[in-house]
Amino acid sequence: MTIADVVPALHTVRVPVADDGGASRTFPVRRIFCVGRNYAEHAREMGHDPTREAPFFFTKPADAVVGDGAALPFPTMTEELHHEVELVVAIGTGGDSIPVERALDHVFGYAVGLDMTRRDIQRAAKESGRPWDLGKGFDRSAPCSAIMPVATIGHLSRGSIRLTVNGEVRQDADLSDLIWSVPEIVSDLSRFVRLEPGDLIMTGTPAGVGPVHHGDELVGAIEGVGTIRVTYEACRYHG
Ligand code: MN
Repeated sequence: MTIADVVPALHTVRVPVADDGGASRTFPVRRIFCVGRNYAEHAREMGHDPTREAPFFFTKPADAVVGDGAALPFPTMTEELHHEVELVVAIGTGGDSIPVERALDHVFGYAVGLDMTRRDIQRAAKESGRPWDLGKGFDRSAPCSAIMPVATIGHLSRGSIRLTVNGEVRQDADLSDLIWSVPEIVSDLSRFVRLEPGDLIMTGTPAGVGPVHHGDELVGAIEGVGTIRVTYEACRYHG
């Protein structure tokens, strides 16, 4: 028996690249980093003072990514699934200790992501001082739109970011409300880890996070970047 009989060759998760003239390019996902509390109103709604706390990072597994149009089983082990719509930064050029003024040179493009959160598990972890991993990094917890290349749209410092659930607006803000800008996030994260091509960074969510139920349709959108649409199956998945 070979190892391949036991563990089939692992495949790399890939995200489509938008607006590439029909070239059908895809972006391989290496790691997913996420920023906590990066919009003041969201920090306040979670009970924190945005003026005193620097943003911080957590991670999700690369294979938590699912694409636009996915029909998703409802996550297990939660009674409080929450949506968080976020700007996603796709790293195209690696580097460590990247200066803020050079940070945008490392960005390949931008996407719309959903940092799906088992809020009850995250809250229990916070209260007991334990890791957030299973509140944040569960299966299919990172829906992500196609990546819009910088070569097409340039860099983003403002623009509408919003999320609807079954057509009702739940989150509605502007990228200019980010506490830490994209260059600051890329620079700061690169001091902790060497960023590599294929890394995605979810840059934090604006206010309005809330519950998702069986059968809900979520649509996240960022002006000029694109949309991500997912639906949750009406019944809990037993497969
Ligand atoms: Mn988030």
